[in-house]
Amino acid sequence: MNVGPEAGSLRSVSEKLKVVILRDLLPAGRRSLEEHFEVTVLGLEANRQQMLSGVAGADGLVTDLTFAVDGELLDAAGPQLKVVANFGVGYDNVDLDACVERDVIVTNTPDVLTNATAELALALAMAAARDLPGAERDLREGRWGGWDPGQWRGFELSDATIGVVGAGRIGGRFLELVSGFGGERLYTARASKPDLEARLDARWVELDELLTESDLISLHAPGGPETHHMIDERAIGLLKPTAVLVNTGRGTLVDSEALARALDEGRIGAAGLDVFEGEPEVPQPLLEAPRVALAPHIGSATYRARDAMSRTVAANVIAVLSGANPPNRVV
Ligand code: NAP
Repeated sequence: MNVGPEAGSLRSVSEKLKVVILRDLLPAGRRSLEEHFEVTVLGLEANRQQMLSGVAGADGLVTDLTFAVDGELLDAAGPQLKVVANFGVGYDNVDLDACVERDVIVTNTPDVLTNATAELALALAMAAARDLPGAERDLREGRWGGWDPGQWRGFELSDATIGVVGAGRIGGRFLELVSGFGGERLYTARASKPDLEARLDARWVELDELLTESDLISLHAPGGPETHHMIDERAIGLLKPTAVLVNTGRGTLVDSEALARALDEGRIGAAGLDVFEGEPEVPQPLLEAPRVALAPHIGSATYRARDAMSRTVAANVIAVLSGANPPNRVV
């Protein structure tokens, strides 16, 4: 294995196919790639220029959501490139049309991170509903003067109406996790899900009705142009003043400034956010807003999920480069 941005320019001395890991891949999957291929890891610090030169001659690329895979990168790799394996289920960082035009297969890592991400959404929901970050900040900074019946009051989620936007794998698991909370369960998706409805007593509604009726709204739709700012000023205006909004989908789903204004002005109850527009920057208004629980995009960050994602990436690359159908083909 070659490590570091410079290593990408080394030529293969073996007959092995070449796989370039644009950033890094946990050992669980990287080791199996190393058994089959000449593997180059460009590293978390590599810049775009180093990546463009480092991918030359690659048969397979491993990437993640932080890096835009576009025509320029595919061309820099060369016409022998067969697969782009994304470490993650969301693939809004990959230009699918550019991949299809060049006969490059794109894969992702669904299912293995579903539970981890749904659990994080629940953790953020509960932390936001009770303003745990604000209460902890007060405690640490010496503002706890003793037990006070009126201080730090929040919202209970039991018997609340809970709405999931994008009830796919993760949204569905989130609904399952909260099914013991009682109350009503609403969801939106592009298509209704009779199975989910029967299993979890959930009801499909239009987005506006979900936003108007729900006490807790959890966003699990993918990023991309279709869902950009689906929660904008108008949508936020539909929310109850006590509503808790959680986003573990993509930062682009929510207009950050509109959300921060609503929190500032007490027009919504609280927010729990794992994803942000323009990551890794976090919009300043959200950092300054009250009653918001923030996490640095850690939805899938459990030992179990991240190792499984790593193995899934490897399985996809190995399948494509050995001429088989990959288990998780996107296009
Ligand atoms: P999924 O199974 O494909 O679910 C996505 C859901 O969104 C589906 O129900 C889909 O509807 C719905 N949807 C798509 N476009 C929509 C639109 N325009 N309006 C309303 N709903 C729409 O994907 P998943 O595995 O649950 O993952 C969902 C997303 O979570 C990923 O794309 C990724 O961005 C995010 N994610 C974040 C983290 C994190 O670390 N925070 C971790 C993993 C995933 P249909 O069912 O009708 O197709």
